[in-house]
Amino acid sequence: MTTTAPTTDSTGTALPEITHWIDGQRVAGTSGRTSPVFDPALGVATKNVALASQDEIDRAIASAKKAFPAWRDMSITKRQQIMFRFRELVNERKDELAQILTAEHGKVVSDSLGEIQRGLEVLELATGFPHLIKGEFSQQVSTGVDVYSTKSPLGVVGIISPFNFPVMVPMWFFPIAIAVGNTVVLKPSEKDPSSSIFLAELFQEAGLPDGVFTVLQGDKLAVDGLLNSPDVASISFVGSTPIAKYIYETAAKNGKRVQALGGAKNHMLVLPDADLELVADSAINAGFGSAGERCMAISVLVAVGDVADKVVPMIKERMAKLVVGDGRRSCDMGPLVTRQHRDKVASYVDIALEDGAEVVVDGREVAVDGEKDGFWFGPTLIDRVPLTSRVYTEEIFGPVLSVVRVDTYEEGVELINSGAFGNGTAIFTNDGGAARRFQNEIEVGMIGINVPIPVPVAYYSFGGFKDSIFGDSKAYGLQGFHFFTREKAITSRWSDPSYGGINLGFPQA
Ligand code: NAD
Repeated sequence: MTTTAPTTDSTGTALPEITHWIDGQRVAGTSGRTSPVFDPALGVATKNVALASQDEIDRAIASAKKAFPAWRDMSITKRQQIMFRFRELVNERKDELAQILTAEHGKVVSDSLGEIQRGLEVLELATGFPHLIKGEFSQQVSTGVDVYSTKSPLGVVGIISPFNFPVMVPMWFFPIAIAVGNTVVLKPSEKDPSSSIFLAELFQEAGLPDGVFTVLQGDKLAVDGLLNSPDVASISFVGSTPIAKYIYETAAKNGKRVQALGGAKNHMLVLPDADLELVADSAINAGFGSAGERCMAISVLVAVGDVADKVVPMIKERMAKLVVGDGRRSCDMGPLVTRQHRDKVASYVDIALEDGAEVVVDGREVAVDGEKDGFWFGPTLIDRVPLTSRVYTEEIFGPVLSVVRVDTYEEGVELINSGAFGNGTAIFTNDGGAARRFQNEIEVGMIGINVPIPVPVAYYSFGGFKDSIFGDSKAYGLQGFHFFTREKAITSRWSDPSYGGINLGFPQA
């Protein structure tokens, strides 16, 4: 929601503003446009975030551009020391950061800490950048001639992130981008933008020069500003598929390097020989963790043979024990991010009923440990979902687990491969041969074998197939280093004192 006047609290007092971070300081918005930021467990706006004007966009990019040459030229050792200090500060202050994150996103604090930990792992990988940006060298390719390559930074790079991981997703990109010598303009989600400012302040405390890390708060105007600026060399985007596609097309048209990760609908295939206790626990964790607002959440359990008859009651029994409530209390699952998103997710229960599916657990009826106005929607289990139902075909992005029944392994694989997305998937079985065949036949980018959320560790790369990614590069891992550097090949001649004069031909010896 975009407002033209600051939102006030119930007493009429103006709410605090979440600012930009430009040139090493907080910069208040001047556009007159703001967007309210909610505490989802309370159901009230607690702050407003500034939405950038074109002037602010230009100022942010200009600051990053100005900072680039000196940062690029700072010695590797000095840059590495700053990265180490930043890693220590994020680690020391992670409890504080988790509270900030939960107060705007709603996820339980332990989950916020888990998200920060995954971000830290990429930051730790980034501290090892000297080893990963080494070039190659060929000596004496011709007499007195050597050829070598260097991996140089791109310049100013843009990062645009979604609401569901306000710390981890930006950290998939900016630590690597900055370590290798780029300057970054980050446009966080307007739903939970405070974590980015906290990280910017820690980075400054770690010794990062002003202008190397910029946070530009905003909406489509800020995104388009990055996409259309000739001074921005690349775009890294994570968000929904329609926007990812738009980002990819626009950035590519403007000659930028681009990686745009989109939405998902992840299936877990359960074979009859699987450990069903493990399956039921995994379905709970992967379906309802972070209230299902994860691009790697499992949203469809594909049950082969008679598996569903056994496992649906086991999942239902476990769901009854989940405590939904304020993420700052000891709950298992928090609220959804906004009232609008909560209502959209809840609407899929009606769609399921209209389409003849069996609603086994209805999240609209959940009892919560939290304030009555919070954006609550409980874990939901829907069995016998028709493949034509929007419950099956659309990304719901909430705590809704669908069960689809198939007769054979082949039918399950065909179903998964026919989907529009290809982000994550999992197979549950005790048959190693079946698992091996699955990882070969399945057309999905991240695969779990008895692992429900197979998010790769930092030194592998993250990304799916099909409508889950646009562009050629995945996030972090070696592909991250590749994305944020470009190679120069240098041919040099240093003649020794016996150099013999002019030669107009190609060198022969
Ligand atoms: P979103 O697409 O609504 O927003 C993502 C970013 O794009 C935000 O910064 C937002 O301000 C900006 N944006 C929104 N509308 C825009 C427009 N019309 N033009 C330009 N910019 C625009 O996504 P979200 O709701 O914040 O996040 C949830 C989505 O992200 C889900 O679809 C989820 O699957 C996806 N996601 C994917 C991955 C992945 O790795 N593939 C990871 C996390 C989230």
